Order: sequence, then C-alpha cells, then structure tokens
Amino acid sequence: MATTRNYEAAYAAILPRVQKPGRYLGNEFGVVRKDPSAVRLRVALAFPDVYEIAQSHPGLQILYDLLNRREDVYAERVYAPWVDMEQALREHDLPLVSLETFTPLYEFDILGFTLQYELTYTNLLAMLSLGKIPLLASERDSTCPLVIAGGPCAFNPEPLAPFLDAVLLGDGEEAIHDICNVVVECKLAGANREQLLLALRHVPGIYVPAFFTPQYSAEGRFAGIVPTFADYTRVTKRVVRDLDSVPSRTTFVVPIVQVVHDRPSIEVMRGCVKGCRFCQAGYIYRPLRERHPQKVIDEAVRAATSTGQEELSLLSLSTGDYSCINPVLKELMDRFENSRVALSLPSTRVEALAANLLEQIRRVRKTGFTLAPEAGTQRLRDIIQKEYSEQELIDAASLIFSLGWRHLKLYFMLGLPGETEEDLLGIVELCARIRSVAPRGAAVIASVSNFVPKPHTPFQWVQQLSAEEVVARQNLLLREFSKKGLGFRYHDTRLSVLEGVFSRGGRHLSHTLQRAFELGCRFDGWSDQCRFDLWEQAFRETNIDVKQELRRRHLDEPLPWDHLHAGVTKQFLQRELARAFEGKLTPDCSVSRCTYCGACDFKTVRNIDYHLHGSKAAEHRGIRVAHWAAEVIAATDGQDLASWEPRGWKKVHRPEQIQNTPKEVVACAPTASTRERAVGKLPPATPPRILGTAEEWIEANGEGALQSSPPAPGGEACCRIRLTYVKKDRARFIGSVELTNIFYRALRRAELPIAFTQGHHPLPRVSFGPALPFGIESHCELADIYFTQVVDPTIVQTKLNQQLPLGLRVQYSELVELRGPSLGQAIAGFVYAVKLAPVLADRGIAFVEERLRNFRASEVFPIPKASGNGSGTVDARKIVSALDLTTDGVLTFAARMTAAGTIKLRQFLQALLCLTEDQVLVLEVCKVHTTLANPEPAGNEPQFEPLGSAERT
Ligand code: SF4
Repeated sequence: MATTRNYEAAYAAILPRVQKPGRYLGNEFGVVRKDPSAVRLRVALAFPDVYEIAQSHPGLQILYDLLNRREDVYAERVYAPWVDMEQALREHDLPLVSLETFTPLYEFDILGFTLQYELTYTNLLAMLSLGKIPLLASERDSTCPLVIAGGPCAFNPEPLAPFLDAVLLGDGEEAIHDICNVVVECKLAGANREQLLLALRHVPGIYVPAFFTPQYSAEGRFAGIVPTFADYTRVTKRVVRDLDSVPSRTTFVVPIVQVVHDRPSIEVMRGCVKGCRFCQAGYIYRPLRERHPQKVIDEAVRAATSTGQEELSLLSLSTGDYSCINPVLKELMDRFENSRVALSLPSTRVEALAANLLEQIRRVRKTGFTLAPEAGTQRLRDIIQKEYSEQELIDAASLIFSLGWRHLKLYFMLGLPGETEEDLLGIVELCARIRSVAPRGAAVIASVSNFVPKPHTPFQWVQQLSAEEVVARQNLLLREFSKKGLGFRYHDTRLSVLEGVFSRGGRHLSHTLQRAFELGCRFDGWSDQCRFDLWEQAFRETNIDVKQELRRRHLDEPLPWDHLHAGVTKQFLQRELARAFEGKLTPDCSVSRCTYCGACDFKTVRNIDYHLHGSKAAEHRGIRVAHWAAEVIAATDGQDLASWEPRGWKKVHRPEQIQNTPKEVVACAPTASTRERAVGKLPPATPPRILGTAEEWIEANGEGALQSSPPAPGGEACCRIRLTYVKKDRARFIGSVELTNIFYRALRRAELPIAFTQGHHPLPRVSFGPALPFGIESHCELADIYFTQVVDPTIVQTKLNQQLPLGLRVQYSELVELRGPSLGQAIAGFVYAVKLAPVLADRGIAFVEERLRNFRASEVFPIPKASGNGSGTVDARKIVSALDLTTDGVLTFAARMTAAGTIKLRQFLQALLCLTEDQVLVLEVCKVHTTLANPEPAGNEPQFEPLGSAERT
C-alpha cells in the first residue's frame, strides 16, 4: 500500500493539469494537524460537491472543530473532485484522498457525508468509487470505513439507502460523539460489521437502512417498510436541546480557493417556526433555539481575528428574527468598523427588516441584498404562509435603496400549489412596482426557481409540475418580463425534475442512481454538467416513470420516510395543508401560542429565545440578557432598549407589556468595547439617529440623510515594506487571486497597521510582482505592503510568517521609499532553473545542447506573449539570455521584463526543447532570482541557492 507521502507526490504530478489545483491542496490556514498514528479513530468528513461549495458549508466545519477537540479522534476533510480531477485520478489509478494528510478514503474508520441536496447523490457514489470503497453497504466488510450520512436529505435517504451503512437524523453536535464512541468500542472489541451496525441502532437518531425492508405493490408502488427488530421500528431525529451547551467554535479553516460563501458563518439560532409551508428546513429543524448573544459575539470576534476574512455572516434560517439581533449587530460593528470587516445576514425575512438593522450592516460595506417574496399575489402568499403584505415589501425595498444598496435580488417560486396565471403575472407586477421605487441605475433582478415538494412539509403530498408545464410557465414569465424591460433569471427545469424525483423517492430509485453514476452522471446540480440524456437512459433502463414519481400522493398513502420522524407530526402537516388551501395563516409560536406541531415535548425540548420579554410556549431567557443589552445600547445612545427590538416582536408586544416587564436579574460580563467606553478609553458611541421601524426611521431622518455613505476610517500610508517570499511545495499551486486573499487575511490576523485603498470596498494596499504559473516554485516572489505607521520590517516578517499557510514564507523584508518606483517598475527580470531529467532521459543530452545552440544562434524566436493585450507574440531571443546547462541537468536562464511584457515560461520551454504541453507540465521549474532595476544595497541582497547566473540591468 502506498504511503501518505507517496500520494502527495502523485497528486502533485497531476495538479498542473487540472483546473483550480488549490481545491486539492489542504494547506489552508487553520487546518488541524495531528499525528494520525496517535489517534484511535480517523474520520473523513465528506461533502459530495466541489471545494467551493463544500468548504462554504458551516455544518461540516462545526463537526470538524468538535471532533478535532478530542485527542482520540482525527477528523479530516474530503470533497468531490471536479470532473477533470476525477478523470486524472482514474487515468493514473490514484485513490481519492483526504485534504489534510492525503490518506485514501478506504483507510478511514468513518466516512461521514453531509447531504445538503439531492443532486449530489451521483457525486457521493463517485467519491466511494474513487475512494476504493464498495458502493453497496452489503458488500463492505470490517476493513471498510463506516459510511454514514447526515444533513437535510437524511430525512428521506431511501434512494441512497443501499449505499449507506447508517444515517443520522437531526443535529450532529452530540450524536457525532456517540457514533465515534460506539465505533471505537467496537474497534477495540474486534467487532465485525454486523455487530457494529447492531450497536449503532441503539444510538438515538441513527437509522440503519439494512434493518428496514421496503415493500412494493404489484404495480411497483411503495407499500410500506418492514422493520427487522420489534424494538427498532421508527427513528426519531436528534435534537440539541440547548445550543449554548455546545462548545463554541475555535477552529476556522481559511479557504485558499475563493469559495461560494467566502466568510465564516456564526450560527445565531437554529430552527424557524414561521411555518412557510414549502420550506423543509422550517419543519425538520424545529423547535427554535437561540444562542446567547454574548456567545454569538465572542465566536464572531474569534472568527474575525483568527481568519482575517473581510466578511462574516450571522447565520440562521431567518437572522432578522433573532431576538438580540440589533444589540449584537451594533456591538459587532462597533468592533469591526475600523478593521473593515463587513457583516452579512444571508436570510432575512421582509417583515424583519428594520432601519436600524440595515444601518448597522452598511457601516462597513453593503454586502448585497436579497428579498424572498416567493409568490406574486397575496392569495398565493397566504397559501404558502408568507406573512407580509405587498406594501411591506415595497417599503422594505424603498428602505434598502434609500440606504444606498443598488442591487436587489428578488426570489420567487414557480409551480407552487394553487398557482394560477394571475399569480405568475403578479410576480411581474410586483417586480415592476419595486422597480418603480428604485433609483436610477439600480438593478432589480427576479430569480424564479421551480417548486419541488419536500418530505416532512405540508406540501409533501402535492403534485410537482412536469417539465413541459414548467417551461410553458417560464415562457409566459419571459414574455411578460421582457414587456416591462425587467431582468429575470430562471432555473433549469431538468434539474428540478431530478430533484423532485429523488426528494420524495423510495429505495427503488437506488438502481437508477447507480446506473446514472455508471453512465457518467456527475455534478447534476450544475446546469453545464448535468447530462439529462444519460439520466433519461438510466430511467428507461430501470423502468422508472418520472411522471409517477412527481405525482400527487394520497393523504393515506404510505410514504418512504414515514418511519423517520422529524418531530413534527403527520397530523399537523395535514392540518397545515388544509389551512393552506383555505388561505389561512398559522401563528408563529415564538411570538404567539403553540400550535402543537409536535416538535417540543416541553420537558427538555422547547423553543428557546433571548427576547427581553419572552413569549408563550418558550423557555425565554431574555431576562438574563437585559443587563447585557442595556450595556451594549447604553443610555448615552439616546434611546430605550425597546426601540432596538426586531420588528416581529414589536408587533406582538404592546408597549404597556414591555414597560411592565421586570428588568434584569443576572448580570453578564460587559463586552470589551462597552467596558472600554465605560472606563473612558473610548469616546461614547455617537448617538445613532435610529428608531425602531423603517417608517419611523425615514420620517425622523429624511431621504437626504439616508443617502449618506458610512464614514471611511482614516489612515494614510506612511511606510512601504518590500517582502521577498518563497512559494513552494503545495503552495506552488496557489493562483494569483488566491494568493492576494491569503496575504490580505494574513495581514489582518497579524494585526499590523495596514493602509487601505479608498472607495466603497476598501482593500489592504498590497502590490504583487507578476503572477507565477501554477506549479512553478519561487524563492524570490516580491510584494510591497503599505502601512499607516512606520513598522519594523523584521517584525512584519515574523508576524506574517506566523500567519501564512504551509509553503509560503517571507525570507526577507526591507523598507523601501514610500513614493519610489512601483513594484512593477522596479522588477527588471527573473532567473529560472529547470530540472531537465525527464527530457534528458527521453532525448539525451546531445539533443538538448543542440536546441540551446539553435536558440543562441537564432536571430528571432517568437513565442506567445505573457502580458499586455494577450494576443500576438514576443521575440524570446530579445528577452531570454544566459542560457546554461549545468552538469547535473539543470537548465538556467534569465528572462527580462520589457515594455511588451516577458515570456510565457512554459510556452518558451515547449518551443525551446520541442516538447508537448504534457511534457512541459511535468518539468520542475523554479524561479531562483528576481532582478531589480536599481541595484540593491550591499549586504541586503537575498541569499538564494546558487543556481546559474543572473544579470543585473
Ligand atoms: S410544539 Fe408548539 S411551541 Fe414547539 S415548535 Fe411546535 S408549535 Fe412551536
């Protein structure tokens, strides 16, 4: 068996051939490093999508942090390789490995998948196959990892059931430890596969599909499921009763490749009881559990300082409804404003938007805005349980625009139950009304997705529209939107059909899934990758009638997920379905009475909120944070606490109720900035001119005040430091855009007084030398960094080196003249060294020497240009000099920077040595010296390995 080191080397050989090699490097800052031989259990946390999506998922990051706190466990990550990487792995017969240690998947004890959406299922099979693990659970023995899955799709995992050993329903924070403990015990006891599964069935929330057998009628319809054991007939989801009991995150991995949500996410609460009838998350994550605001703040500050990322998001299903959102936002912005860390609230309901909330978000940067009206008419919004009125939506949009946002995205759904042509036209009308309140130059974009009924929701019984019907409705929208001159995006119908088939599908679909995987289906959620023709073939070959899979279900029909209990009862869901068609709204139980959905037992599991005055049917802890909130929003801020309440609460609690509520009982530690203000270290916070609701705020401040931009923190650059750094090993595959982000973030973490650029999106003032091609090492990359204070270069070097990922290291730093020539002007050329061993072995030294002689003798040597407008050629003869072949087979040469740019390194080598693109890719190339136009001061010249000679111009 190959060792870990061997796989790292083998991967390095194929990385130059694939897109974004940074996806596979695993050398991010913050990665946990342990000695795998010193732990009892090795866990691979898997996400069946590409790095950019996977690394954005906060749930997986929480488990990574929790597991790696244990001394006996090492948790690593593994994500789906992109199609080019899968092809390269198969061509070279390499296994899929973990990011941290390049360990093949088959060597782990547990392989735990997070299943966020159905269109990743073929990727899961691809990962098993690439990880050299048998696809079918029934074919795995004790030497194979336990393959387990969790996440929203776990609530109907039946199409995947034959491929999974076990499934976790619900929250993972506590269950993951139980699972690890059982696996460790079984390992120590030498238990076989069956004994392990028998032990796992006793872990609450664990579903072992092998212990349940589905039944089908003569017509092939699902007819129920038969459990193997009388004491294991139904699995109930796991609930973390109190999120405050879970240790706050301390591990934050800072991605190298730019990911979809390139920011740490801090969960403020879990669950949502607003009751939108299409939303699966709103039912499977009940009840509502808020986190203590001080915990949220502490974790957010830790995330910002330990990642250096420029944005942070406060995460939940509806963050604007978090009881303490306003004090938390204010406190965080007080802390982050000067370091330019922006905050985003990715999911905020229209009703929850208030002026003071938006005012806080815009203090650093406007992070883009999205509203989700979902339906175009009030009638349909009542059916789906969207509580706001059209006027509220228009007011929210007006407020967003008046505060300076210029891009507003509106999310709608097509094909909702009860939808008519009038509802579709209503979408267009609503967008037109919103467009009419937008200022000139603002963009209003409607994005219309296709409704897919999900298990465990009131709409789990309704019919999903056929692809033909969806296309007809999309065409109607296209026509009407274009009449109004409005932007409109719609979703790929084929993808919605696939999602619909698998979201309510039974175990019979596992054959289809496997066939689609064998035919080559991957990344089915990506329009440009989805091969619907292959899916049609798979459906045909496995006798699946897609229309039947999308059909309406009878209310008394057995459903493939009936034995998996998400907390909410089937009776409640049916009652909600009936209310939907009567157009009746159901009260939100966090601010009104309990509506008996079944999620709470009121002994251990119940809604938990931190609202100052509490609510019915909840364990309200607001009284515990009254003092805390009063500290954050001090009396000097010129208003009372009530004006900072979320809007939803203000509607419910009458003013007299609020006034009569007793004040704080338990004091919490004041936050740093509050403390500092109290002892006079910081000036009192400027009294914000903010009232509670949008209308009040606009009335009090006027439109003119709304237009103003947030004040830009000052700080002119007064010092420039030039760094010479090494880029080698895994870091040689980091691209130039990623490198820029790595330095920005390392500078923030190092807490150095960086100067920022001006404008609405200020960035650290850093300039880099020309980008290196992927895979090429350098001992002498240059970067200039500007500071607002004079700093000691050696301190900068030391602090930065503590913050840079593996393979990047500052070798040398010096002060350079602040207003002297730019880095681009200062660089005169480079010296490269190329190990020619493969070429010499293949063609012999005589051939190479002949090619070098030809080059030297030639008058012109045209190759493609490396910079400028990107077309045309450059004459390498005028740029390249000092070609030399050392006795140990290393070719060295110098390349000048000219006004027309310089050479493309690999194209030059290809032309010089008559090589193919693939032959050049495997050559080890290193930039060994950067030549500056002005001679460097004596004694300051960086010391490089003596490889060839450099010319100083
Ligand atoms: S049981 Fe009652 S209080 Fe609990 S989530 Fe359901 S409706 Fe709300």
